[in-house]
Amino acid sequence: MMGEPLRVVVIGGGISGLSAAHRLIELRGEKRLPLEVTLLEAGGRVGGGIQTIRQDGFLLEAGPDNFITTKPWGVALCRRIGLAGRLLQTNESNRRALLVHRGRLHPIPEGFLMLAPTRFMPLVTSPLFSWRGKLRMAMELFLPARRDNADESLASFVTRRLGREAFERAAQPLVSGVYTADPNHLSLRATMPRFLDMEAQHGSVIRAMWREQRAAAKARKRRSGETERRGGDSGARYSMFVTFDEGLQTLVDALTARLPEGTVRLNRGVVRIAPASEEDRGGPSPRWRIVLEDETSLDADGVIVAAPTHRAARMLEGADATLAAHLAEIEYASSVVINVAYRQGDLRRPLDGFGFVVPSIENRSLIACSFSSVKYAGRAPEGYALLRCFAGGAIQPHIYEWDDDRLTEAVRREMKDLLGIEAAPLFTRIHRHPRSMPQYPVGHLQRVAQIQAQVGLHPGLALAGNAYAGVGIPDCVHSGETAAEGLVNTLVEKTGP
Ligand SMILES: Cc1cc2nc3c(=O)[nH]c(=O)nc-3n(C[C@H](O)[C@H](O)[C@H](O)COP(=O)(O)OP(=O)(O)OC[C@H]3O[C@@H](n4cnc5c(N)ncnc54)[C@H](O)[C@@H]3O)c2cc1C
Repeated sequence: MMGEPLRVVVIGGGISGLSAAHRLIELRGEKRLPLEVTLLEAGGRVGGGIQTIRQDGFLLEAGPDNFITTKPWGVALCRRIGLAGRLLQTNESNRRALLVHRGRLHPIPEGFLMLAPTRFMPLVTSPLFSWRGKLRMAMELFLPARRDNADESLASFVTRRLGREAFERAAQPLVSGVYTADPNHLSLRATMPRFLDMEAQHGSVIRAMWREQRAAAKARKRRSGETERRGGDSGARYSMFVTFDEGLQTLVDALTARLPEGTVRLNRGVVRIAPASEEDRGGPSPRWRIVLEDETSLDADGVIVAAPTHRAARMLEGADATLAAHLAEIEYASSVVINVAYRQGDLRRPLDGFGFVVPSIENRSLIACSFSSVKYAGRAPEGYALLRCFAGGAIQPHIYEWDDDRLTEAVRREMKDLLGIEAAPLFTRIHRHPRSMPQYPVGHLQRVAQIQAQVGLHPGLALAGNAYAGVGIPDCVHSGETAAEGLVNTLVEKTGP
């Protein structure tokens, strides 16, 4: 295809925007399109919430620290850009999660995965649940399945199927550690639909998970001749998570390096996107005028908005008030990551897990804590340990507001209470993530459908990001790539081959 280049602007340089820009460049090569791509980022660096920092031989993650491989888009992208060999799996030993119960740490029973137990004996012998609670969970096998297919909050689903204890003591903290959300509002259909499908198809979540595990073990055995291994993970399915030897920044850097020089423009916050006026257009394109904070502007045939919806809403107010209003309705939670480094000798108990989660009924100031140097190799120098605490979120928004001194003090108190660490850490690094985690309440999918319908009225406009169809890194990659593909199809249709 020849002629005037098609100009596409991507707004936002987080993983969603980078994936979109990268996919546009891939498509340019694959379809031999005369495509000119610009990525506008408000801040002074790309990566958004993803940032890896080196300090005194430690490798700190300021935001996310790994991603799941069962959603294929993250790993597929790594393969395409030559990063597959740098993917790092979680360590084999201590592959389990702990949970705070009555002020003490206990292992989550082996086989208890996110919402439900899949193994009998570890549950029976666990001190985390009362006998009543355990019996109530076992009853899940015999409870009738709900007939309608309506959305439901996570709290309602788990309490209905497995009882209050399973919810308060396990499902709530495990899910809050991922979504920083209030499970009383969190939509199960939008976040973990497989559990609703399990109920619908198998009549019981526990039975469905048993069947799933048996099938997976058989497949493994067939593939590698390995003996069937029972159980394994607890809490999250840790065997399915990966990062990179040098941290998640590796992905951000690799994507950025593959974009043609000059594509990424930093410190270029967008304030407004509007259809360019008729006379400015002078033909079918350019169609969109993008106005920056410094009042300069650029025109484009296509725009992908990959900024958080509270920012996107403001940009699009003038272009489509209805779309902006829907976007503005999506709420976000703020959270804070606190990396703390210790000498091994200062630890009073072994770090015998990948970390712990904290039920909100425990009334503590942390949501969770990862034992980073136990979970992944190369996170701390020999003889040292790195822990990564997580606070704030939708359930404890006031903690996000604490100043750094108060947060540091709170973390020190929790480390002393829960891990018996009396010594001061070597260092503490605090990273705040204001309004960064979109909340997916019951009804979220309808809202997203409304947004998509409204976007469909504007050829040449696309949205990407963690606010629509998943917050995880693979979801964001998928969202960026899908936006790029959709936009290229529209532009090619408009201008002809
Ligand atoms: C603390 C934390 C831990 C997490 N842990 C994990 C994890 O372990 N695994 C996992 O898979 N996921 C995790 N997530 C979720 C995942 O990291 C995020 O959903 C994902 O990084 C979001 O990427 P994004 O590009 O959609 O948004 P962002 O990273 O928020 O990027 C948006 C970008 O848009 C820019 N921008 C905003 N306004 C404008 C404007 N007006 N003009 C131009 N640019 C603008 C911003 O500066 C930013 O760079 C975590 C999230 C947080 C906050």
